[in-house]
Amino acid sequence: MTAEADPRAIVVVGAGAAGLMAAAHAAPSGRPVVLVEGTPDGGRKVLISGGGRCNILPSHLEPARFVSESPPHLVRRLLAAWPLRDQRQYFELDLAIRLVREPETGKLFPASNRAREVRDRLVTAARERGVQCRFGRRVLGVTGGEGRWEVRLDGGEVIAARAVVITTGGLSVPATGSDGFGLNLARELGHRVEPTYPALTPLLAGTAPHVALAGVTVTAILEARGGGLTATARDGFLFTHRGYSGPAVLDVSHVVTRHRDGPDRARIRVQWCGVDAAAWEARLTTRSPQQVATVLREELPARLVERLLLESGVPADTQLAQLPREARRALVERLCRYELPWTSDEGYKKAEVTGGGVALGEVEPATLESRRAPGIYFAGEVLDAFGPIGGYNFAWAWVTGRSAGLAAARK
Ligand SMILES: Cc1cc2nc3c(=O)[nH]c(=O)nc-3n(C[C@H](O)[C@H](O)[C@H](O)COP(=O)(O)OP(=O)(O)OC[C@H]3O[C@@H](n4cnc5c(N)ncnc54)[C@H](O)[C@@H]3O)c2cc1C
Repeated sequence: MTAEADPRAIVVVGAGAAGLMAAAHAAPSGRPVVLVEGTPDGGRKVLISGGGRCNILPSHLEPARFVSESPPHLVRRLLAAWPLRDQRQYFELDLAIRLVREPETGKLFPASNRAREVRDRLVTAARERGVQCRFGRRVLGVTGGEGRWEVRLDGGEVIAARAVVITTGGLSVPATGSDGFGLNLARELGHRVEPTYPALTPLLAGTAPHVALAGVTVTAILEARGGGLTATARDGFLFTHRGYSGPAVLDVSHVVTRHRDGPDRARIRVQWCGVDAAAWEARLTTRSPQQVATVLREELPARLVERLLLESGVPADTQLAQLPREARRALVERLCRYELPWTSDEGYKKAEVTGGGVALGEVEPATLESRRAPGIYFAGEVLDAFGPIGGYNFAWAWVTGRSAGLAAARK
């Protein structure tokens, strides 16, 4: 067994988005900062984020869009610690990553469109500031008490530390290195950990009723309800070979993963485009020789139109003038209140984040220090909050990682 010589050391456990940010902000204090990471290179979620392009930040941040069991004012307070424009400046000036705004969505991506650039710059910045990186090493346990913590690594090494920052993520995409270590540690330390569930995960449709539509995308409005939860989204919807995906589906998927069965089983209603029921009623109630399918195709892809007509019992060549009232009602119902026949979800394997986690009420909002175990800090996905698709979750990791790193250095 060996022990790090300097007991003033700060150990950051996990070199994902939050850990890399925490280490880089703790290092300028001059105290030794050791960043321990289980994978050989760290930042693996950054690498696969945004389809390999890394949606590094959102265009704007609405704290009310975060999902958490903790009081909303805590989410707001944590996010306020580092305004979005300052985060952007950090990436552009300190990390020299040029960011560009995607015109349609306002989301920020690196100009190179390469997530690897973001991951590599974060790691380099930490190293340049003097952070000692121990990659390919897993932390097996953290024990001790205020001011005197011991971090036990695989291989038997023990590092003595004044402060330990836990940035080990949650349970999502285990292949990236997160296995719930931080959540278990928090429980051991006496923390309340809100029940966890996969969030931002694709949905499955067991009998694949829409397999013929695989690849079709629309901008849809979704409303999911279940067990008293409601989530709405207006964004891209993608039919896949196994079910449904796209930002709108991911953004409401937590209602499904929390209420998969039983009397409160989640229901998802879809409005396939911006045209609402009243507007469709008006457009379909004209005595015209124009075909119904033609009118629908003005707003929706042909393959989806074909399917909706089939399910509504309306023959494909029906003219508007021939559309009976009942058939019109059935069609409008499917256009605007379509019940999505999901059967399951992709779970943690594909979830972009973990819902639930370390209760925000048990960490100091300004520092992220544990109220149960002073000297221990939590940041990133391990905490009980996640946001929608669009850069919100990195923003959460950057902000909380920075706050924890700065505070651990002041300890
Ligand atoms: C496919 C995908 C795409 C995404 N795209 C985006 C996007 O474009 N924009 C966005 O905002 N968000 C995106 N996200 C979400 C975002 O990646 C996460 O919210 C964020 O990475 C969480 O950061 P974290 O540092 O808290 O956790 P993680 O990134 O999970 O990092 C935790 C780290 O801790 C390490 N670790 C765990 N346990 C131990 C241990 N015991 N010892 C040592 N090391 C340990 C892990 O190896 C890992 O490197 C995406 C997620 C996925 C899965």
